[in-house]
Amino acid sequence: MVGVDALEARACRPDFAVWRGQVARAGFCVRPVRVSGRAAAVDTSSGEVLAQTSTADAPDGVLLVACGDRRAAVCPPCSRTYRADAWHMIAAGMRGRTPTGEDDAVPSSVGEHPALFLTLTAPGFGAVHAARDGGAPCRLPRGRKKTCPHGRPAGCGLVHEPDHPAVGTPVCPDCWDYTGAVLWNASLGELWRRTRIGIERALAPAASAALGRKVGVREVPRLLRLSYVKVVEFQRRGLAHVHAVLRLDGVVPGDRSAVVAPPSWATAELLASAVRSAVASTAFALPSPDGVARVAEWGSQLDVRPLDDPAKAAGYLAKYATKTVDADSDALARRLRRLDRAALTREVGAHLARMVATCWELGKRRDLSGLRLRRWAHCLGYRGHFTTKSRAYSLTLGVLRAVRRAWRARESRKAGRADVWGLEGAEVVGAWSYAGSGYLGAADVLIAHRMAQDRAVARAEYKAVLRREAQMAVWAA
Ligand SMILES: [Zn+2]
Ligand SMILES: [Zn+2]
Ligand SMILES: [Zn+2]
Repeated sequence: MVGVDALEARACRPDFAVWRGQVARAGFCVRPVRVSGRAAAVDTSSGEVLAQTSTADAPDGVLLVACGDRRAAVCPPCSRTYRADAWHMIAAGMRGRTPTGEDDAVPSSVGEHPALFLTLTAPGFGAVHAARDGGAPCRLPRGRKKTCPHGRPAGCGLVHEPDHPAVGTPVCPDCWDYTGAVLWNASLGELWRRTRIGIERALAPAASAALGRKVGVREVPRLLRLSYVKVVEFQRRGLAHVHAVLRLDGVVPGDRSAVVAPPSWATAELLASAVRSAVASTAFALPSPDGVARVAEWGSQLDVRPLDDPAKAAGYLAKYATKTVDADSDALARRLRRLDRAALTREVGAHLARMVATCWELGKRRDLSGLRLRRWAHCLGYRGHFTTKSRAYSLTLGVLRAVRRAWRARESRKAGRADVWGLEGAEVVGAWSYAGSGYLGAADVLIAHRMAQDRAVARAEYKAVLRREAQMAVWAA
């Protein structure tokens, strides 16, 4: 409970309005970083200091900086910003982007390139509870055996709702291959890399047929470039899915950053068949800490579809990009210093807790040290970025952030509030030090939360007004 006195203590301070301005500028982040220091805008030709600022007079002597976390379970406001940026980045690779004056153009001709939306799944590591369409039972035991070697029922005759907590968890945890699942997650980056190479190779026969001469696999990258953006999303069974947009580009010799159409024989159908063949044939041996031979390969559920609606596809990917390993909590949001399996079981359930514990256990083996399984136990063994793109696919998130900063600086100049960061032609120099993370007390957290809610309501009302006005314009016409 937050006391009224604590709320009053903040709200009655003379610098309350300034503090609120800081919270708003940090995007209502739930756990902003507090920094102290000073900055000056310097005219680099004359050395003249054009403006300066210091946190000495700021509320609590600090500046609030948004945490910038992509995950909705960690910081909803920062995650919304990330999701919007990710959407723009992903959509720009499918339909181009008109520059805003910064270095952020993507040619609209990319909309004509062959492209597709791809979902790759993990293979099975044992029977899991499932919600079936049409009210069918979970899984009936195959064959005549009614129990597993551990004496548990071999199947499950229940009908599960899709959001039931058992869905995705093993029918028998002792039969389920936790070691295999963790090793598969740990090999996902390599599996994707080899699959990409496999797709390029699979394009060689088609190139040969189209050009009427033998095109070797090494020549393909001189004719075509596979551009992509991919997002890794965890399923409830603790294994990753890969969602990706793949696009075929042409190649300009000597200019790796040029984005041009591929030759006309390179079609979306051709790309789809190359993807199917590469996905089916890419496999390599996994390490074997327990003497069991396993291979890294994709599961049988491959989904390849045309890009009919780029905005919608970008929406899916951007949403997946804000998810955590466990969708509902932030218990696995950060690197683990030690393993507290009982606490984890309470927070994320027995299945994911056992995935983490398996990482922890295997992580002490020297023959698996290259997988750094303890370092990545909170990601169930996966060590890689959740959103990645090839260089030429689109602009970067960093460019989008720079565009936003430049826009803000322009707006504050227009409003006559030229601050240190809003001055044109000036270099900003400064010295900052970290003062801590999060708000100073529960009252501040509550006020910031209420401010974020007010803002969300105002935004929704504004959108409703715009919709009504658009509707009235239709009626008037
Ligand atoms: Zn945040
Ligand atoms: Zn079941
Ligand atoms: Zn069993």
